Amino acid sequence: MKEVIKSHRTAPQAALIARLNPIIRGWCNYYRTVVSKKIFTSEDLTLWNMLRAWTVSRKKKKTPLIKALKKYFSHGKHGKWTFQTGKTVLYHHAETEIKRHTLVKPESSPLDGNWTYGRKRRGTYTGTPTRVSKLLKKQKGICPQCKQHFTPEDLIEVDHIIPKSKGGKDTYNNLQALHRHCHYVKSKNDYLYDWLENGYEWKDDILTVPMARV
Ligand SMILES: [Zn+2]
Repeated sequence: MKEVIKSHRTAPQAALIARLNPIIRGWCNYYRTVVSKKIFTSEDLTLWNMLRAWTVSRKKKKTPLIKALKKYFSHGKHGKWTFQTGKTVLYHHAETEIKRHTLVKPESSPLDGNWTYGRKRRGTYTGTPTRVSKLLKKQKGICPQCKQHFTPEDLIEVDHIIPKSKGGKDTYNNLQALHRHCHYVKSKNDYLYDWLENGYEWKDDILTVPMARV
């Protein structure tokens, strides 16, 4: 998003919104099963700050900031500071409905041969086909991270339960198949635990180093 905003420094506002909306929607659809509304709201805040900077970068020096902001932000569906022009309104992350644990059994089972074949052809997983299908069989077609069934559309990655960096082995009992986005979340958490083990603390929702350590 940062790059898009940068490259639209002199572009019309409507063009910027038109470019940003599909990016935001795509991101939200991808992450809505694993992140919280809180994260979406904080993404909106980050975006708001970027758009504020975008406004500053294109306003004339003499124009007061508030006047420049009012040119691009006005009262709309997101309240007083809605980034919009005409009928083109910026999509907000927080508009996305969080969808979690819809435990629907998919029509085609990951255990049937056709599905594995389709996957092989499309190449939407990492790791060798036998490895993935063995793991899927062992896991009964369920992703251990989100407890949902894999569907043929899912991107699957092979994860080391104990990370290789921590001496985890390349054997089946240390491997699991995860959704790509679940793998991403798990890897992030692996680091998080590392930090917590090394004396970091949660304080007001921020990961902080206790004063004594600094
Ligand atoms: Zn998953």
